[in-house]
Amino acid sequence: MKRTVRDIDVADKRVLVRVDFNVPLKDGRVADDSRIRAALPTIRYLRERGARVILLSHLGRPKDAPDPALRLDPVALHLAQLLGTPVRKLDELCGPSVEAAVAAMKPGDVLMLENTRFDPREKKNDPSLIEELACLADVYVNDAFSAAHRAHVSTAGLATRLPAVAGFQMEKELLALEGLLAEPQRPFVVVLGGAKVTDKVKVIDRFLDLADRLLLGGAMALAFLKAQGFEVGASKVEEEGLEAAAAALARADSSRCELSLPTDLVVAEEPSEGAETQVVPAGAVPAGWMALDIGPQTAAFYAATIAQAGEVFWNGPLGVFELAPFAEGTRAVAEAMAACPGVTVVGGGDSVAAVNKFGVAEKMDHVSMGGGASLEFIEGAVLPGVEVLAEKGSE
Ligand code: ADP
Ligand code: MG
Repeated sequence: MKRTVRDIDVADKRVLVRVDFNVPLKDGRVADDSRIRAALPTIRYLRERGARVILLSHLGRPKDAPDPALRLDPVALHLAQLLGTPVRKLDELCGPSVEAAVAAMKPGDVLMLENTRFDPREKKNDPSLIEELACLADVYVNDAFSAAHRAHVSTAGLATRLPAVAGFQMEKELLALEGLLAEPQRPFVVVLGGAKVTDKVKVIDRFLDLADRLLLGGAMALAFLKAQGFEVGASKVEEEGLEAAAAALARADSSRCELSLPTDLVVAEEPSEGAETQVVPAGAVPAGWMALDIGPQTAAFYAATIAQAGEVFWNGPLGVFELAPFAEGTRAVAEAMAACPGVTVVGGGDSVAAVNKFGVAEKMDHVSMGGGASLEFIEGAVLPGVEVLAEKGSE
């Protein structure tokens, strides 16, 4: 296990904290603050113990230069409201003005530096930026699990120059995902959906080894159906995914894990709110129609399987849940998980959005903010931002 902020003395120390405040903005305001809330326990803990808290985050994808629309000001404002204390926001990431501002900090103060990705050196993990930032602080805390699959200055590089420990959100994510994979409560049921097979091939492989049942849905399942020779009409099928799907099907044959595909589908001529829909058996999608959700029979079977699970992991919506006519499959899975007495973990940007939309986030044991990072972790990849953190028991 990684050392955390609990394991070090932070009183009076200058602490650089990498958070993931890459939040959606709308009209210059924070549209969804889940990621900011996730960092509050670490920030509060550090303040209460008299640390000087210097926050680092990226926001969006600026093109290696300052982009006025991606400044962190609205985020700092929102954080200040949540914390009930001022958050001083700087317009620079490093340099003399930042050094002066840090020098003026008092214990308990919170300072936010500018978007790390305005500096082209961030993504290159450039030693000169590591040096400039490391000079500002005594300790580095990584609380951004969702950015930990990147080897950037703020997510990994700083740990080469400063004592580096995990924040509480990082710890929570690691415990939940390690727990899920280490000794799963059986039956271990995994639900995978979403857009692309190629994004998730390795995840499918890992679960074919680990899980008892793999339930597939979403556009991904259509590639599996097509690979089996089923007619999928005008459905969105990722051609590059067909081979991967065929390979996974072959592997599933010799795996102890039972793989399920949809047996019925909701189809329409177009993905729209007012679309006319039909339910058809999988394999009987009419020419020119698209499969946009799993059908009611499949949804009922998936829900019943989830109800009996000792542990469930879900990633990827089962249909185009953003549109009401195609949301029922995803809703059925979300609600079945909410009611499941076993351990329930949800990961993935759109899946988490679905769980929030259906109002069941609180009923899950863990909602991973991880997205790409949680999938890479499940694949068994070493996450650079996790690897660099000190292990418990080490000095
Ligand atoms: P996550 O972010 O949870 O990992 P993905 O990004 O892989 O999930 O996929 C989410 C997207 O997949 C959603 O926007 C949803 O509309 C889309 N999707 C799901 N099922 C289908 C389908 N049958 N046809 C087209 N798009 C689909
Ligand atoms: Mg997504």
